[in-house]
Amino acid sequence: MKKSFLYQLILIFVINVTLVGCVFNPNMKDNFPPVSRNNETIMQAFYWEMGTGEYLKNYPEEENLWLLLAQKAPELSEVGITALWLPPANKGAAGGYDVGYGTYDLWDLGEFNQKGTTRTKYGTKKELESAIAALHDKGIKVYYDAALNHRMGADATEIVKLKGQDQTISAWTVFNFPGRNNKYSEMKWNWQHFDGENWNLFEGKTWDWTFYMDNDYLMGLDVDYENPEVQKDVTDWGKWIINEIGFDGFRLDAAKHIDYRFINSWIDDIQNNSDKDVFFVGEAWIEDVSELARFLERVDNEDLKVFDFPLRSFFVDMIDGADLRNLEYVGLVNKFAYKDKAVTFVDNHDTNRDGEKDGILRRKYQAYAYILTREHGTPVVFWKDYYIWGMKEELDKLLLARKYFAYGPGYEVDNNDEDVYSYVRAGLDEVEGDGLVLMISDGESGEIISKRINSRQPNTTFYDYTGHVQGNIITDERGYGDFKVKKSENEGWSVWVPVIE
Ligand code: CA
Ligand code: CA
Repeated sequence: MKKSFLYQLILIFVINVTLVGCVFNPNMKDNFPPVSRNNETIMQAFYWEMGTGEYLKNYPEEENLWLLLAQKAPELSEVGITALWLPPANKGAAGGYDVGYGTYDLWDLGEFNQKGTTRTKYGTKKELESAIAALHDKGIKVYYDAALNHRMGADATEIVKLKGQDQTISAWTVFNFPGRNNKYSEMKWNWQHFDGENWNLFEGKTWDWTFYMDNDYLMGLDVDYENPEVQKDVTDWGKWIINEIGFDGFRLDAAKHIDYRFINSWIDDIQNNSDKDVFFVGEAWIEDVSELARFLERVDNEDLKVFDFPLRSFFVDMIDGADLRNLEYVGLVNKFAYKDKAVTFVDNHDTNRDGEKDGILRRKYQAYAYILTREHGTPVVFWKDYYIWGMKEELDKLLLARKYFAYGPGYEVDNNDEDVYSYVRAGLDEVEGDGLVLMISDGESGEIISKRINSRQPNTTFYDYTGHVQGNIITDERGYGDFKVKKSENEGWSVWVPVIE
């Protein structure tokens, strides 16, 4: 008696482990439908403190980012990363310590001994080109972070007259790029290529036309994009980055401080001179969704996307609990004509910076689950979240859910409430086994909530790919099933996907 009871127990245990193993092991390829289209997913491949202080001690490999990215290409491709947003790859005023936004020489990608170093913070031009080749080899595109608004670290001074003032000043406005010796571009910069410094206009200058009027100045020497020599050099550079260096797109830093007429023509000039479908995303830090849409209208270029700061504002609200019914409406990603202009994200190098900005500290997975399953928008995963804050394991599940299941039309449901938001991807007609039901909760009671939801997939068996809710759900002949999510900060997201027979 005793022995057979034990056998039964063991049998039950083995069966359960086998079942759970089959159903919940995300590494089992048999559980995936074929990928017929490729969902785009960007990773921001850096953070502000990378390669410094404690981070350098704990992650020494990040000191040579270009080498590291080449190594990471296979594993990133595996989980569905299709593009990397790299930090500014050109020489900054602070040389090897410059994160990259203190633009000194756009044409020096770690090739010339300038500002006390040949390499940049991230490596040499050769290493960069090897990384691009390795990433392309795995089907991953590479986007350049272009900080075009200003210049810093001039090589010499000259006498400059300020607008409307009698006296002259000695200003650091001369850029000779002595280490580059005219390679790639012969242009030298002087005060005439800038509008001013510290809000002081130089003689004969006017501030450029920016989205908010009189908002041209941000920092350093403000580049004058009304100057034809400047226009030509920066446009030539953009074409060189795409056509010669091999990048596939740009992030435009501080886009609301740059002449929008120039942004428009710059994008056209680069797009029209490349075989690629070049990707452009502007950083216009505008949290009001109508204003952000207005920014797009002002630049008026079909190819420009923008980061969805308004959506992120809602993720900030979610930290302390928000009415989740609003997830149907918030952000540029839900604004009708602009849905696919949205580049959705949760945190970046500015919103999470040590000692300055904490970032999204709670319900971050819920935010990621939202952007990674949505029909519209191009989501970004932040390197610091993924590799440093220990979110890789759980994010991989969401990334794989995106890669294999997040296809077909997106449907809102009609029974959301303050604590539970659900959303359906119907799957593609031509693919067997894709589609999903997303459920997000910002509740805390720990109870499992059930919602009757039309999955758009009749007679289909679903399981929660995150593993937070156990068991299968079988839909009826109309596609309805009782889908579940846990009211929990740490487990309150479920992605129900079809069981592949
Ligand atoms: Ca100007
Ligand atoms: Ca400016």
